[in-house]
Amino acid sequence: MSTKEYDGIIVGGGHNGITLGAYAARAGLKVAVFERRHEEGSAIYTSECTAPGFLHNLHAQFMEFMDWMPFYQDFELEKLGARFLYPKAQAGITFSDGRPPIVLYNTEHLDLSHKSISVYSKQDADTYVDLRQKALDSEDAFSMMMYSPPVQPDDEDPDPGNTSALAYMEILGLPRHYAKGSARSLIDHLFETPELRALLYRMSVEWGCPLEMMSFGTVALLAVFFISVNWKLMIGGTHNLAHAMVMAGVREGMEFYESSEVKNILVKNGRAVGVRLADGTEVRASKFVASNADLQQTLLGMVGEENLSPLWGKRARDFKCGPSCVLASTGLALHEAPAYKSARHNPDINRTFYTVVGFDTPAEVLEYCRDAEVGRIPGIPGAGTWVNSLWDPTYAPPGKHSLCGWFFFPKASTHTRAEWEEVRATYNDRFLERFRRWAPNMTPDNVIAKYFYTPLDQHEEMRMVEGDFMNGAMRPDQGGHFRPFPEASNYRTEIPNLYLCGPYMHPGGGANAGPGYCAFKVVAEDLGLEPFWETNERGY
Ligand SMILES: Cc1cc2nc3c(=O)[nH]c(=O)nc-3n(C[C@H](O)[C@H](O)[C@H](O)COP(=O)(O)OP(=O)(O)OC[C@H]3O[C@@H](n4cnc5c(N)ncnc54)[C@H](O)[C@@H]3O)c2cc1C
Repeated sequence: MSTKEYDGIIVGGGHNGITLGAYAARAGLKVAVFERRHEEGSAIYTSECTAPGFLHNLHAQFMEFMDWMPFYQDFELEKLGARFLYPKAQAGITFSDGRPPIVLYNTEHLDLSHKSISVYSKQDADTYVDLRQKALDSEDAFSMMMYSPPVQPDDEDPDPGNTSALAYMEILGLPRHYAKGSARSLIDHLFETPELRALLYRMSVEWGCPLEMMSFGTVALLAVFFISVNWKLMIGGTHNLAHAMVMAGVREGMEFYESSEVKNILVKNGRAVGVRLADGTEVRASKFVASNADLQQTLLGMVGEENLSPLWGKRARDFKCGPSCVLASTGLALHEAPAYKSARHNPDINRTFYTVVGFDTPAEVLEYCRDAEVGRIPGIPGAGTWVNSLWDPTYAPPGKHSLCGWFFFPKASTHTRAEWEEVRATYNDRFLERFRRWAPNMTPDNVIAKYFYTPLDQHEEMRMVEGDFMNGAMRPDQGGHFRPFPEASNYRTEIPNLYLCGPYMHPGGGANAGPGYCAFKVVAEDLGLEPFWETNERGY
């Protein structure tokens, strides 16, 4: 690379960095993205980790934001190969004694969700369908919240996070105090069926929502009713999304450099003026530097505490990652897809996009989550699983199947490297042993190859601190206009020209491209750019 000067430099080519880069390039700015890994997209990633021809989305699997994500529409990513499917049976739970499963279906089949829950309770079926329909009817409010910078407090509304939490309660027709409850208490209040509660517990945790901590009511409701069962599958692997995003940015003139680690953000006369790469190259930026790399590395490492005020140094140090939302992943190359005992009541459970296996009761899900939160490897090896080859044959060789699954695990620093290696070597077998009680065909002979990906792997490979897939715990004091901390929540930093665009910013983690899009809008405002990205239909 020749030494060049850019209008803007973005540190980190995760999908939020790419988003900011592509929009800035479309605005006519000369921009470069520097990514330390050999490829783009961070957790928007697909791996052939078990055996040749078997694809596994070890990180992001659910593409739940595709209908709302501005980048997807504005840059016509479908034409660049990011195409998706929306499986009919979306989420299900199955049982070791062959009890009827519960299956929740996609938007077009709410009647089938009702039928499935009604096997246990007509009242629960009515409640679920009513709340899901209300969420669907108010999608515009949700997407507007996701893709707009958080409302900042002022004299008229000193607590805008609370205001929007109450607005969601109103949308769903629920008592206001539910916003302040825990996910568990909310789910227990709303639903009487233990089987359904176990599934919804798991769906809440999947969105980084701790089950038993107060003040998470809104997050739980958003997770269960707005985001879940909105899950799309990226054809050919999640990686195709990141690839299409980079191609879209490059088509606009964005430059993208892989294997280019940034060591320092250069600060001169109190302003961000460029970056220094690990090989010593200095690259200048005349208008802005933005970071998609994690918060602490950005502020404490790249900028350096000597360039920060004591308050910002403290705020950065205090930022929390995990432990309530850390995942480990399994990858299994299979001859046959799992055939569940519960399928005799509803065969759709064998073709459900996300299937919770290994938990017969809500108490087991709670025990599993409590283990992880206090730093123990969960004693119950249950998982949320998916077999993408059931819908998309490109995920496995002809006639074979590729399974992936998530375990809810303690954060990376709770175990030594040797302990994680022990987990890697043993946990899949413990899981398979349990799996067989739910799906008898999950015998050792059915497994061609297996792989285990730990929170420490995520920490080291993706620099996802502690393996926290929300890239910063989704706690009330780190959400909305408190994310990542109050003084930084508008994507600007105290250093002029330096912006933050990682998933530790509002709206948080997920393959949503929200932080990158919102950060771009703020950069654009500061640079006085025409708001070409705003369309009347979308409103954001
Ligand atoms: C196991 C797992 C499962 C998930 N499943 C889902 C899912 O199903 N659906 C969903 O919506 N979301 C899911 N997520 C969350 C989602 O994938 C992430 O929140 C999102 O990808 C993070 O956004 P990002 O790419 O912008 O940020 P990051 O992933 O934080 O990317 C930061 C980038 O910066 C780079 N970088 C770091 N330091 C430097 C440096 N010094 N110099 C240059 N580059 C640097 C990193 O290599 C990385 O590419 C999952 C995450 C995990 C871990």
